[in-house]
Amino acid sequence: MINSLLVFTSLAGITAWVSVPVIILIVLALIYLILINIMSAQVEKRSNRVRQPPPYMVSSEVQALHNRLLVADLHADALLWKRDLLQTGRTGHVDVPRMLEGNIAFQVFGVVTKSPKGQNFESNSSQSFDNITLLSVLSGWPPRTWGSLFQRALYQARKLEQFANRSEGKLMRVLNQKDLQIFLEHRRAGDRITAGFPCLEGTHALEGKLENLDVLYEAGFRMIGLTHFFDNEAGGSAHGREKGGLTAFGKDVVRRTQELHMVVDLAHSSPRIIDDVLAMTTMPVVASHTGVRGTCDNVRNLSDDHIRGIARTGGVMGIAMFEQAVCECSVDATARAMRYTADLVGVDYVALGCDFDGTVEAPIDYRGMALLTEALLKQGFSEAEIQQIMGWNFMRVLMAVLPE
Ligand SMILES: [Zn+2]
Repeated sequence: MINSLLVFTSLAGITAWVSVPVIILIVLALIYLILINIMSAQVEKRSNRVRQPPPYMVSSEVQALHNRLLVADLHADALLWKRDLLQTGRTGHVDVPRMLEGNIAFQVFGVVTKSPKGQNFESNSSQSFDNITLLSVLSGWPPRTWGSLFQRALYQARKLEQFANRSEGKLMRVLNQKDLQIFLEHRRAGDRITAGFPCLEGTHALEGKLENLDVLYEAGFRMIGLTHFFDNEAGGSAHGREKGGLTAFGKDVVRRTQELHMVVDLAHSSPRIIDDVLAMTTMPVVASHTGVRGTCDNVRNLSDDHIRGIARTGGVMGIAMFEQAVCECSVDATARAMRYTADLVGVDYVALGCDFDGTVEAPIDYRGMALLTEALLKQGFSEAEIQQIMGWNFMRVLMAVLPE
């Protein structure tokens, strides 16, 4: 009787009796794997477009200046997608080969764990259907991540660690002052290497538990964005329903983040949260990927008062490079927002935070970053000022905040 439920199979010279349910399971698993690869590439192709594909041309003088920079970008969501970041991708904006080609040395990797369906800048509910649940299943993430925001954060940090381990020294994780100095010495010696660490995009991934912050620290997180597109346990989002200030839990999160020597990131935070953090911070804070209302007036962007407040902490504004942040899909619009910020508070507080791979259309991918250097020259910045904006201002923040 049992034989009627078994099928004789021959695979690569191995013969075996396999039950029909097992065959069905194998076929379903194969279909799932094929679907994962087709669907995830399609989703990313639609999500992270490039307005102007390569080749990118600048004069030899501009290229030479760009090659002398240490470029640091404060935000890219490259870990969200099913790509090997050690290979040049056919989709998206950021990977290690494209970083090296565009002379981007340092990358803060945003870690998104929840994104509401119908996401918009004005008002989002935390109860909406979550797109990342679908993405995690379609991308073949481990089942433990399908129902847990915290596990999604750990999984993406682990991905970065594995890329670094496989990179043969081309990508290093910078987790403390010693790592930072080693990385900077390599760059000074002319070694073509990149570095970075993960940044949490929204503390809803803590799942209401402060102790999870310590686990994220152990996993390599060195920057914590308080909110993303909806209000959470820590407080209000710029795009939430209530847009409130820090809750008691939120204050504990800010305090513990700084005790652990991680950077507090105010991108996407409600204006009231920004006020509350500025009133209590003991360290430089950043807005990792933002625009400024002075050149692009919308709820996503920083007011002059908040630019002044963040500058007063010694932190930086990472100016983004996509239409909703700078009101135009161009490198020139990013350079204009940098000029506005520098004129308001001084060049020491201006940085770069493109938000590439963050479901945005980018004017260029990383290989074209010399075009931003060209645009900054057109804005009248000197080479020394461009050095600061493109990387050294953020290195100063890391030297002030990262643990020993
Ligand atoms: Zn973001």
